[in-house]
Amino acid sequence: MSMTKTYSPGSKIFREGEPGQCAFIIERGAVEISALKNGKDLPLARLGPGDLFGEMALIDDEMRTASATTLEETDLVMVPRDYFRGCMDDADPILNVFLRVVLDRFRVTHQVRISGQETIPFDDQAVDDYRNDRQLLIDNLQRQQELEYALENGELLLHYQPIIALAGGECVGLEALIRWQHPTRGLIPPGGFIGFAEKVGTIVPMGLWALRESLSNLEQFQQIRRKQNPDAPPLFISINLSPRQLANHDDVETIIEALDASGVDPSIIHLEITETVLMHDPLQASKSLGRLKEAGVALAIDDFGTGYSSLGYLHRFPIDHLKIDRTFIDSMLGNPSSMKIVRTVVRLAKDLKLAVIAEGIETREQLAMLREIECEYAQGYLFAPPSTPNAITKLLKSGQLLV
Ligand code: C2E
Ligand code: CA
Ligand code: CA
Repeated sequence: MSMTKTYSPGSKIFREGEPGQCAFIIERGAVEISALKNGKDLPLARLGPGDLFGEMALIDDEMRTASATTLEETDLVMVPRDYFRGCMDDADPILNVFLRVVLDRFRVTHQVRISGQETIPFDDQAVDDYRNDRQLLIDNLQRQQELEYALENGELLLHYQPIIALAGGECVGLEALIRWQHPTRGLIPPGGFIGFAEKVGTIVPMGLWALRESLSNLEQFQQIRRKQNPDAPPLFISINLSPRQLANHDDVETIIEALDASGVDPSIIHLEITETVLMHDPLQASKSLGRLKEAGVALAIDDFGTGYSSLGYLHRFPIDHLKIDRTFIDSMLGNPSSMKIVRTVVRLAKDLKLAVIAEGIETREQLAMLREIECEYAQGYLFAPPSTPNAITKLLKSGQLLV
């Protein structure tokens, strides 16, 4: 991706006004940067080993605003434009906006210094070039504020979806799923904001809110459960945790404090994480999950089979449940390889003594098949969609969930 080239003293590396094809890092030797002032070369800087130059034209596609000449025999590492642009494309667009703003300011200062003019207006083309990026930055900041406002002003709410034990056919647990009751846009499903919240970090307080809220709603469901069936074990509650919530010690401790403060028996709390948590930073994941296990909760792998699916982690991390992703359930009856995956995961879970939950059951045929292969638990529209706490209360009272 980069390469070193040796230049003899007095070589012109690039000239003012040329387009820029690459940037350079000096490995050995010395380079003078100069610019034309009143027809004469004005030295601006003398650079040595370790210095980077020629990067500006790569960032904003402008012409070189100075010339570079070697002062002695010099080795330069070249950073090609395509490589650099690839890095910029991968970076957060906001970082690019910052970079361009800083660069523009620098260019203006530079021009003022060379021309002696007091101020130079921004060139319209350059302004146009990053107007879109800047708009994106502003939009993102507004979106983040709106989300924080929603969190602080009670616009977020939880729906609950029943989880059914297939052997007895009754509801044994509930998964809490977040929604945003937007003042103008109506009820927004998590797909419309969780990804963004994850990106900007709002997911951390948001996820904590979901945890506290669901633990405080739980008792009303347990009461009905006890009335309906005094001998049955309490309902469990499943709560989704985002990777960001497990990325550092303090956030994990805050989760544990919230669990303790709720007074809910931790063994009926299931925390759902995705495989990405485990793969991204296994060491941190191992610490965070270890702490949560110490607190007594159960851990579930959500969307099992869609991530990296390295089976190695199943015994390296303290996992209790696997949730088979909806895409496999959806296709298993028409697609033999999906069926094989579902069968294998159910068997694997049994062998490893993990509970297994099939997600997204929509038809009686899927239900029959899951019973046949002795999948333990299931969740899906066939039983009930995610519903408001009131609707769940009614469902539990009516006993309609028995299948
Ligand atoms: P998930 O954890 O995999 O949740 C299951 C999703 O499948 C839910 O979507 C649920 O409504 C949907 N679903 C359940 N049964 C069926 C079915 O039979 N058919 C179909 N087509 N879909 C079904 P939802 O509520 O839109 O949530 C989407 C995702 O948002 C969740 O996927 C979860 O990853 C995330 N999420 C929701 N609440 C939270 C939260 O509090 N924190 C975090 N970090 N993520 C959350
Ligand atoms: Ca989940
Ligand atoms: Ca899932």
